[in-house]
Amino acid sequence: MVNPRFIYSDRFLDHRCRQFHFERPERLTTICQHLRTAFPNAVWREPTPVSEGLRCWLEQIHSPLYLQQLADIAAAGGGWLDADTYLNEHSYDVALLAVQAWLDGVNDTCYTQSPVFVLARPPGHHALRERGMGFCLLANAAIAAHYGLSVAGIERVAILDWDVHHGNGTQALVQHHPQIAYCSLHESPAYPYTGAESDRGCHGNVLNLPMAAGATGATYQLAFRERVIPFLQEFEPDLLILSAGYDAHRDDPLSGINLDDTDYGWMIGQCLQITHRIVVGLEGGYNLDALGRSVVATVQAIAH
Ligand SMILES: [Zn+2]
Repeated sequence: MVNPRFIYSDRFLDHRCRQFHFERPERLTTICQHLRTAFPNAVWREPTPVSEGLRCWLEQIHSPLYLQQLADIAAAGGGWLDADTYLNEHSYDVALLAVQAWLDGVNDTCYTQSPVFVLARPPGHHALRERGMGFCLLANAAIAAHYGLSVAGIERVAILDWDVHHGNGTQALVQHHPQIAYCSLHESPAYPYTGAESDRGCHGNVLNLPMAAGATGATYQLAFRERVIPFLQEFEPDLLILSAGYDAHRDDPLSGINLDDTDYGWMIGQCLQITHRIVVGLEGGYNLDALGRSVVATVQAIAH
């Protein structure tokens, strides 16, 4: 058994809403409790401190105006980007550190040739170039994909997004790039009401697989065998970035999809047949206990 590796910082807990919000620090603390029990020999490391060098990667994806807007809202003590996307006074710094953690994940997996799990928040797959939405501030996965192409030997990067919501931000930020592929399985119809199956990106590099409410692991396994794996095999990614949301779990309060803990282990087992260079990055997942158990199931499949 391989010792799993996690990139995590307690600073990711500082992004916190004053009122109840599903996207809360307890998501990460619960995951960490489950992981420390299940994997006592795991390797934990802090993300690299944020430096000026991060800005060039951020500005490939987000406009300077939007980044300044986030900095200003945080400096003013916090506020709302839309009805469900908040910042507090720490949120901009925490979001920058989250991006850095995903980039560290890219370096880690390219160096070790084995998967690494980035336990960061806020999530990122709904964030657009000029606008955060859906609990997301900065586009972690899209930035990590572009960054990955700067690593020696990485010619093609695939993003697989199994969060129950379509990653509209990620798709918008990578679909023009022939060296990046994006594949999403998501509940439909559901927020953010994008991700039609007919939408294939600018180079046939996008695969959207809408799932009807009530879909189970059997439906997902069929989709993996017939669509996801062939798509990834044809693209031949040197690096796989996983937007790992856990809100398609049957116990999740925000979705109608019925995956079990074990389905996540099965799915990442399939990914390992494509490549072992995998950055698993946390997106959604809002039932705390189901989230903790499902992350453990994912890591168990990696560690064996
Ligand atoms: Zn989600």
